[in-house]
Amino acid sequence: MSDKRDYYEVLGISKSAGASEVKSAYRKIALKHHPDRNPDDPSAEAKFKEAAEAYDVLSDEEKRPMYDQYGHAGVDGTPHGFGGGAQGGFSVDDIMSAFGDIFGGGGGGGGGVFEQFFGGGRGRSRASQGEPGESLRIDLHLTLEEVATGTSKTIEYKRQVSCGICSGSGSKPGTQPKQCSTCQGMGQVHQRQGFFSVQTACPTCRGRGITIEHPCVSCHGSGRTEHKEEESIKIPKGIEDGQIMQIRGAGNHGILGGPPGNLLIYLHVSQHKTFHRRGSDLSCQIPIRFAQAMFGATVLVPTLDKKVEMRIPKGTQPGEKFRLKGQGLPRDDGRGVGNLFVTVTVEVPRKPTSEQEALIQSFDEIEEGRTESGKGVASDHSEEGPSFFERIKNMF
Ligand SMILES: [Zn+2]
Ligand SMILES: [Zn+2]
Repeated sequence: MSDKRDYYEVLGISKSAGASEVKSAYRKIALKHHPDRNPDDPSAEAKFKEAAEAYDVLSDEEKRPMYDQYGHAGVDGTPHGFGGGAQGGFSVDDIMSAFGDIFGGGGGGGGGVFEQFFGGGRGRSRASQGEPGESLRIDLHLTLEEVATGTSKTIEYKRQVSCGICSGSGSKPGTQPKQCSTCQGMGQVHQRQGFFSVQTACPTCRGRGITIEHPCVSCHGSGRTEHKEEESIKIPKGIEDGQIMQIRGAGNHGILGGPPGNLLIYLHVSQHKTFHRRGSDLSCQIPIRFAQAMFGATVLVPTLDKKVEMRIPKGTQPGEKFRLKGQGLPRDDGRGVGNLFVTVTVEVPRKPTSEQEALIQSFDEIEEGRTESGKGVASDHSEEGPSFFERIKNMF
């Protein structure tokens, strides 16, 4: 028990972290260490489980105060404890439903992650109940504009469905499958290897316990045929790159009555040419003219769907950053909208005309005179601190 890491440490958050911080910290870790994304890394699964466990406690209004007060001992004994369950089967569907909880965001609250992970305990004995269908993956690419508004997409994909001719049995209508003679219908055989007897899936029937003597002409005995699906799905706003949506039962049909797999939709958000995204905040750069920076101005700033006016003050410096409240992306928990951070760059004319050159030349001479005369100038600037030129001078 005591060798467990502190849950706040696991999620990398402080003890005072709010509910949404707990959630987003967990989601980040869960996405990174998701077993689907790290198939060859057993430590990823351990980290994934560890984070899920921490989230289960820290997102729970009852368990968290218990944990804060008594540490691991305060939550281990609760009815939803993590004891033996964690050793159980860890199927993709279950992980996904935990994801769905996080991802759907709708009110949160209900059932802990672990109940969803390990609760079902669906038996999957092959020979009698058939084999479950495989889950399928498709990838969808979204633009930032689509993230801002939410969207609906029509997806097309192929999946294996129960054969309509033989109703999934694989046998020609009017004929029956035969009990496998190799394994006597058990689906498993014992093989002697030296002193040991090893139980393996029957090679003749591949664990199904039956053999098909007269295969169905449509599915050639497999019980399934390929079908093209078209599905319209709604994508909520505020999606982050890397999130996964799941449609239960939309994967391949099972074999011989097994349950269907799920459809996993991996969402990718494309880079935008103008905006950089960080969570629900956006940032961009806009160029302004030298005189605008000097005298102040009202400039037009692009947002994802329009242009808005932004006031820049007198004496704005290159690289200065302004915040346009509420001009970012909607938060995926439905709570408000992020901000747009605008960094101004001051354009320096690459090919000034001779008139411009002359004007700037005399401007610069005045500026040089002002800084050279020393002390008197410093007091002019005393409220704003020393000017750029003064700071340079002070370096020598
Ligand atoms: Zn067999
Ligand atoms: Zn068939």
